[in-house]
Amino acid sequence: MTEDLYSLLKSDVRFIEGLNACINCGTCTAICPAAEFYNYDPRLIAVTLQNKNNNEIEALLKSDTIWYCGECLSCKTRCPRNNTPGFIIQALRHLSHQLGYFVESEKGRQSLAIKRTVGDEILKSGYCMYVDRITSEMHPEQGPVWEWVRKNAKDVYERCGANYKGNGDGAMRKIPEEALEELKSIFEVSGGKEFFDNIEKHSEQKAKELGLQFDNTNTCEYFKHVYTTNNGKHSLND
Ligand code: SF4
Ligand code: SF4
Repeated sequence: MTEDLYSLLKSDVRFIEGLNACINCGTCTAICPAAEFYNYDPRLIAVTLQNKNNNEIEALLKSDTIWYCGECLSCKTRCPRNNTPGFIIQALRHLSHQLGYFVESEKGRQSLAIKRTVGDEILKSGYCMYVDRITSEMHPEQGPVWEWVRKNAKDVYERCGANYKGNGDGAMRKIPEEALEELKSIFEVSGGKEFFDNIEKHSEQKAKELGLQFDNTNTCEYFKHVYTTNNGKHSLND
């Protein structure tokens, strides 16, 4: 039996706070920076959810649409009914991850890339992105100057006053093992690890479905597919 998706959304405090009664005025869309660039309309999302139609909600959870919001929360400040489409989106994304629906859209599948490049990095180094991991292979957009900076990292960062990989205080310092262990514990007890594992599990299933090789590296076929694919249908100008 299909799950009652509206009830599941209602169990999320962000959804309760995000949607009162939408009067379809479109103010959120007018102020939304994402709506200026993407095929994205927060008004339509609020109205769709208000209809409580299971099929429509399922389609949203499996769509690229819910991944376009930049969570700037400009909509929170302007809605005449005190709604916050940005919170509604957070609840939709959470449910999409929980049910594994995120793998059905290109933008949703990119959750794996964010999980592995940012999420895992937090647990590994204590930083959401440590400079050593910004390689030219993964980030060719950084250009040749970045390659030079990487080759001369110690010298460059010391000149900037950073404590690159050093103990003690300062920018770019090494985060002590004890603090990293504490971070891991927080992820365990708060459900963060379970959330990450779920992304891996559903991504692996999708890789099988697509016939792409999958492992825990960022060089496996599925990761590369997720990291580089762009169907060219996201922006308003496409
Ligand atoms: S601004 Fe508020 S009431 Fe108006 S369309 Fe957006 S969510 Fe609905
Ligand atoms: S939080 Fe999302 S929906 Fe709201 S204005 Fe920002 S980008 Fe648009």
